[in-house]
Amino acid sequence: MTPPLESLFLPVGTTLFAEGDAGDRAYLIAAGEVDILIERDGREIVLAHRGTGEIIGEMALLDRGPRSASARVTRAAEVIAVSQRQLEQRIAETDPILRLCLSVVIARYRDTLAMARSGFAVPPPAAEMRTPGGDFHAAVAMLTLERQIEEGLDRGEFVLFLQPIVRLADRSLAGFEALARWQHPTRGLMPPSEFISVAESSGLIVRLTAWILREAVSAARRLLDVLRPEPGVETFFVSVNVSGHDLHQPGFADIVMATLRDAGLPPEHLKLEVTESMLMKDPSRAGGVLESCRIQGVGVAVDDFGTGYSSLSHLSTLPITTLKIDRSFVKAMADDLTSRKIVNTVRLLARELGIPVVAEGIEREGEAQALDELGCEYGQGYLFGRPMPLGDALALAAVAPPEVRAMPSRCPKNPPSFLAGAYSP
Ligand code: C2E
Ligand code: CA
Ligand code: CA
Repeated sequence: MTPPLESLFLPVGTTLFAEGDAGDRAYLIAAGEVDILIERDGREIVLAHRGTGEIIGEMALLDRGPRSASARVTRAAEVIAVSQRQLEQRIAETDPILRLCLSVVIARYRDTLAMARSGFAVPPPAAEMRTPGGDFHAAVAMLTLERQIEEGLDRGEFVLFLQPIVRLADRSLAGFEALARWQHPTRGLMPPSEFISVAESSGLIVRLTAWILREAVSAARRLLDVLRPEPGVETFFVSVNVSGHDLHQPGFADIVMATLRDAGLPPEHLKLEVTESMLMKDPSRAGGVLESCRIQGVGVAVDDFGTGYSSLSHLSTLPITTLKIDRSFVKAMADDLTSRKIVNTVRLLARELGIPVVAEGIEREGEAQALDELGCEYGQGYLFGRPMPLGDALALAAVAPPEVRAMPSRCPKNPPSFLAGAYSP
């Protein structure tokens, strides 16, 4: 007897599907054993035995045709159905290179079956192999970009940009965020949106982070030499974006500490920025690595806060020193009461945790004032300065009036004209 589709626990003798049935799903065998068999001339021929960890009925997902064999339980089994929709959804979500590999493997599988059915005559090429589709072009573009990023790293084509972060109360310079740019040999200065996601999916981000960490730490050293903060005043910092791959890399905390030591920069002048969504993916592992950095004095900021789903209990156990409110809330604040409430809630939450807030993406004076009134301590955005090369960041630190150059140094309310519109975001 064929069981209803939702049945998962199947006694011995159950026919899971029969030759000729229409098939719309495959089954993962979680426990037990199943025979694959066909009936010919009134005789049953067992083609294969399948057990725990194997998949059966997968041809139906590939071909949507009738079942070419039957499946019968020979040892009490637990099976989990995988529908066409579930499989297609996963394949659609994966990256184009993997999708292309999958389509090639599936085409080969079909070829082999077709050959077996036709007495081993070579079939014509599958349609999708004759005309490269969207995945083929996307995979080519991705593999090319990956190789170029690697070469760009080898050739030193990446450039450090720094964006000022100010204290909202008096607009004094509190620190900088380090942001990567790529001086591409033919495409010009490229923003991170054009290479970070491929650097992440290929794992090259680990090399990029190591590079920007060294650059940012040495830049912080030089900026400190210009600012010459007085002892006891609030710490000037440079923050560096860190990806999930970095936190999964063994010894990441050691790399951070070695970079600081090499540049002679005290750890309290460095902050690591991790996005909220990344932190929440694996809070205990991320927490462990960040804790090691934190214990030695490095700051930890949660980036793009408000866009993920942090639970308060996780936040309170993670070694966080700053919350960065995502730009989308700052943008929407002017005409959206909900966004204003979210900003206020984040500020209250930060106060509970005893840490300051940085509001990102401030472009207008009105936004800066509103955020200051709400009690946000720090601001970052085009209003105060766009991301700029180190030379201009040093100049910005140096143009602060001498009496305030010792921290807190002032970032002028109207940025010097050389900053206005000079750089792309
Ligand atoms: P993010 O970490 O949220 O960085 C802030 C982004 O907002 C920067 O974009 C900055 O230029 C932009 N921004 C700052 N103020 C304003 C403003 O007032 N208005 C608008 N419209 N935008 C503003 P950028 O430099 O293009 O970087 C984009 C993202 O790329 C970063 O977002 C970060 O997630 C990633 N990224 C950049 N550099 C690195 C890096 O070295 N490592 C890693 N892992 N990610 C990086
Ligand atoms: Ca960031
Ligand atoms: Ca951000």
